[in-house]
Amino acid sequence: MEYGMLLNGVWRDTGAVWEVRSPYDGALVGSVAEAKPENVTEATSAAMRAMKEPIPAYRRADILESVAKLLKQKAEDFSKTLVLEAGKPIKSARGEVERAVSTLTVAASEARNMSGEVIPMGATPAGAGKLAFTVRVPIGVVGAITPFNFPLNLVCHKLAPAIAAGCAVVLKPAERTPISAIKLAQLFLEAGLPPGWLNVLVGDGPTLGAALVNEPNIALITFTGSGAVGWSIREQAPRKKVLLELGNSSPVLVFDDGDVEAAASTCARNGFSFSGQSCISVQRAIVHRGVADEFEREFLKRVSDLVVGDPMDESTDVGPLISKRECDRVLSWIDEAQKDGAMILSGGRLAQETIVQPTVLSNVKPEMKVFNREIFGPVVVISRFDHVDEAVELANATEYGLQAGVYTNSLDRAIAAAGRLQFASVLINEAPTFRADQMPYGGWKESGNTREGPKYAMMEMTEPKLIVVNGVP
Ligand code: NAD
Repeated sequence: MEYGMLLNGVWRDTGAVWEVRSPYDGALVGSVAEAKPENVTEATSAAMRAMKEPIPAYRRADILESVAKLLKQKAEDFSKTLVLEAGKPIKSARGEVERAVSTLTVAASEARNMSGEVIPMGATPAGAGKLAFTVRVPIGVVGAITPFNFPLNLVCHKLAPAIAAGCAVVLKPAERTPISAIKLAQLFLEAGLPPGWLNVLVGDGPTLGAALVNEPNIALITFTGSGAVGWSIREQAPRKKVLLELGNSSPVLVFDDGDVEAAASTCARNGFSFSGQSCISVQRAIVHRGVADEFEREFLKRVSDLVVGDPMDESTDVGPLISKRECDRVLSWIDEAQKDGAMILSGGRLAQETIVQPTVLSNVKPEMKVFNREIFGPVVVISRFDHVDEAVELANATEYGLQAGVYTNSLDRAIAAAGRLQFASVLINEAPTFRADQMPYGGWKESGNTREGPKYAMMEMTEPKLIVVNGVP
């Protein structure tokens, strides 16, 4: 199947072809027209022209609702596309499509409700006699750059709030997984989005992504991906608003009064789903010594039940990593940890050419990469603690701060730990992998500088305009 570049409402050929291949077996999934840096300027001009004729909020909401409906109708086709281009197991792919429908639906509702605020002018002598209120004004053309691991829902988390807020978009999806985004853009056109409001350009990061970052008429860059790329984008574009959603090394604290079986089961599911290629995958189980043996036993039992193999197979839990190179990197981190004293309790090798076995390590140290960096592979490490201070210190021993989980049946402990964990969200009796798409989602420290979720992204993508009326009694 061949796909064009979407520019000003028209699917175009570019004379260059980008091949998308399955990370599972290398089969050709589709050929995409590869955009050139000059197309970024063209697309941005089309977007600016489009914004000269604003779409009323109710119509923007109608369009988003129609896209959600169309996506629901085509859910199985989208799920299979995710399996083919990302190697995402079909069970997880269906979950992503369902969430993308929610993201679009929530954004539609936010489009209808977006409003400014009334300022209490009588509160100071200077304000007395005046009426003041704000309205939310679209910031300008949004440049969106997305990663490979949620090729549909994370694209929705950029497009849906931008359209809801009244901003036109130039999207550069991850070059390894662009087809879901292209198919989604087809739905936007089908739903009646006028030309220029959404432009989709496929190409690599250093060339095309950089051109988008450097395009002077893009007002805001919304980026989800690795920290190295994200922070360098912010440095390159000091005059733009740059929103960053980056990585994590997600910890789960299991206290001795917690439900150990529930914790073990959640960690097994959320440490290995999509082979750990989620920014909030469980990476570190930090377990009270009193229940650590029980946790380890329950956890390993569940890990050994995971089905590894073809992502299209209905029973598969763990499929390929995105590339052979990523497999090599993950294995090298495991090797390095083993050389430094870590014990491999399960896995540690390739299961197939691009599939790493679900791997569990113990006896790890906070200095190890498998502990404090984001592994982005099917690896969970287990540490033991005696006192809550030690647990909190271990959890915080990373440069990241996105989400953390805590298992305890004591409300006091839960609240105390939540307060001390340096993570933007703390999930109690739930995995740090949990996300509902209306939540304010984003990280502290190296994990980013913003919150996504349609309402929060729309606040970033609009600016308040203040109107002051004089002479009001
Ligand atoms: P990546 O940083 O390699 O690529 C992300 C996007 O940036 C791609 O579209 C890529 O082409 C583009 N890019 C690369 N170099 C660029 C450059 N110089 N200029 C502009 N754009 C450039 O990330 P990835 O491997 O696709 O995704 C994995 C990362 O994404 C992980 O670190 C993961 O934690 C993170 N992630 C974060 C969230 C979140 O919401 N916080 C969600 C999913 C993934």
